[in-house]
Amino acid sequence: MSINFSYDFLIVGQGLAGSITALMLEDAGYNVMLIEEGKEKTSSRVAAGIFHPVTGRRIVFSWKARELYDYATSFYERTESKLGEKFFHRKLILEVMGTAREYNDWQGRLAQPEFSRLHKDEAINPEYDNCLQSHAGKLLLGDSGWMDITRFLSVTEKHFSEQGKLTKAKFIPGKLERIENGYRYELGKFQKIIFCEGIDSFENLFWNYLPFNPARGEILNVSIPGLPEDHIIMSGIFILPLGNSVFRIGSTYSWNYPESKPTEQGLMELEKKLREAIRLPYKVLDHQAGIRPTVLDRRPLVGKHPEKEDMYILNGLGTKGVMLGPYFAHELIENIQCGKAINSEADIARYSHLFFQSGKSA
Ligand SMILES: Cc1cc2nc3c(=O)[nH]c(=O)nc-3n(C[C@H](O)[C@H](O)[C@H](O)COP(=O)(O)OP(=O)(O)OC[C@H]3O[C@@H](n4cnc5c(N)ncnc54)[C@H](O)[C@@H]3O)c2cc1C
Repeated sequence: MSINFSYDFLIVGQGLAGSITALMLEDAGYNVMLIEEGKEKTSSRVAAGIFHPVTGRRIVFSWKARELYDYATSFYERTESKLGEKFFHRKLILEVMGTAREYNDWQGRLAQPEFSRLHKDEAINPEYDNCLQSHAGKLLLGDSGWMDITRFLSVTEKHFSEQGKLTKAKFIPGKLERIENGYRYELGKFQKIIFCEGIDSFENLFWNYLPFNPARGEILNVSIPGLPEDHIIMSGIFILPLGNSVFRIGSTYSWNYPESKPTEQGLMELEKKLREAIRLPYKVLDHQAGIRPTVLDRRPLVGKHPEKEDMYILNGLGTKGVMLGPYFAHELIENIQCGKAINSEADIARYSHLFFQSGKSA
């Protein structure tokens, strides 16, 4: 690769955030180069990829759920057509209610128009009742599904590699040189650079002033012969059908960073919840752990470096990368193109004071 090559953008990291950003910039007609060091157990590679507009036991819509869903579904489906591969799967959620109180809470929610729109009044496969532990009720919810992120990453990698626009190497911030109207790195000249490094930005000298609060998560692949594969089950944990009686089960949360290996405790917690959800025998096939790039205020990190020109970040996608990624990559690109404001809850400008307090300012 010659140093004389000239690009519009260098994107550091080809996880979910970097892949989405690169594809969107390409759609907008820009010449991009990606650099990815090839780590195995990144957040994107371990994630289940489930999207679901309702959050937890409190039964509330997650932040900007409708806007994110509309934007993400149209982006992923358009990208499937562009790349000629399927990785985005719509699938209904089978919400299993453990207690009468939970059942009543759901009934209350379904009386509200925005929740009743989610509710799918379809017959549920009766076989589920032979497989689930006793419960207080169940219902089907839409606007949900899962993204095969590993497949998305490998299809995107192939797409850019074939054009010579993906370099397998670790980006070293100290090697970046500011030149007129951009940056020079050993791969060429770049008008702008976008960092999409997930938790590794925690250690990047340009970004380590940001208040990351990484959340480790563990996940299992299990074989459960006999369990129907019609829906994603939510019952204290999620049970995501992957085909051929294999299901992904998850996930745990702990703020015990930087330990990223699977633990005995994580395995016990997931198996206990699985036994509470189903009454079928199962076999654990695989146990993985990853670290989610979460932020203290649980909002993404999007925008321009407080001091460095032409330097940007898309990070902090936390627990909901599949839905947050397309919407905020689009906001970042519009901001770069025409100065359109980024949502103030996501704009890294909210943390500029930390940068100036850190003494990093030139
Ligand atoms: C157990 C678990 C379950 C999850 N389940 C879901 C879910 O069901 N639904 C959902 O929406 N989200 C889920 N998530 C969250 C989701 O995985 C993240 O929000 C998302 O994948 C983050 O993507 P990212 O690209 O920001 O980071 P990453 O996936 O970490 O990607 C960053 C990339 O940058 C590369 N990189 C870093 N530094 C450098 C460098 N200096 N040079 C070159 N390359 C570099 C890394 O190798 C990596 O490939 C889950 C996460 C975990 C851990």
